[in-house]
Amino acid sequence: MNLRYILKNNVLKKISKGQKIALFLDFDGTLVPIRKDPSQCVLAEEMKEQLKLLAGSDRCYLTILSGRSLQDIKGMVSIRNICYSGNHGLIISGNDMTYIHPKALSAKPFIDRAARMLNVEITGMEGAWIERKKFTASLHFRSVHKNDVPLVKRTFYKVVSDFSGDRTLAVIKGKKVLELAPDASWNKGSAALWILNNLRGKYLPVYVGDDWTDENAFRALNKKGITIRVGKSAKTAANYYLKNQGEVSAFLKRLEEFII
Ligand SMILES: [Mg+2]
Repeated sequence: MNLRYILKNNVLKKISKGQKIALFLDFDGTLVPIRKDPSQCVLAEEMKEQLKLLAGSDRCYLTILSGRSLQDIKGMVSIRNICYSGNHGLIISGNDMTYIHPKALSAKPFIDRAARMLNVEITGMEGAWIERKKFTASLHFRSVHKNDVPLVKRTFYKVVSDFSGDRTLAVIKGKKVLELAPDASWNKGSAALWILNNLRGKYLPVYVGDDWTDENAFRALNKKGITIRVGKSAKTAANYYLKNQGEVSAFLKRLEEFII
């Protein structure tokens, strides 16, 4: 069900008079288009103003959840007094929330070592690069020639297999990226539920995301609230979809009308 459906068919009427919402938004691919170099992403001024408006309402608790490090996502969004969650939910900070998953700390030396090994192994593989994100590390291959992608992936899994005896590392698959993460059975869905449980009072969760990592959150929340995938997919667990960032913006505007 698409944007027109969401706007026309009473989906937002779920937000009945006075109902508070916990709005969870992914960043890359949801609020900004995905870029080859993630550091080049810029949150459009209009989108930022919309987020500020929503965050300013006492009927909306806004969290930005991202696979980026906490420091990175805070810098990218750069709005005060909202909640941020980095490293796919392993760390939560801001607007009266503080959490860090214990495994994020205990696995960090292993992630560091694996990332160093991987960095050596991919030397000379054009377009492949490692991004360190404090508690996780990503191997990006968006710029790798498609014939070389299988080799890059094999190299990644070879390094991961060296750590498989320790049961400390897990792999997170994203869009043209493979990520080393702590084996924590914790994801964006767990983080969203943790935040919901720590809010005082009853909040209706509304979650918007675009990637495989957001599916955990869709599954965790789709019976409790409104889940929306950016980009149509037959396989998604989300209740609704929006086509692109433009439609996300239109949706947020409509949401504002309901709660501000
Ligand atoms: Mg995303």
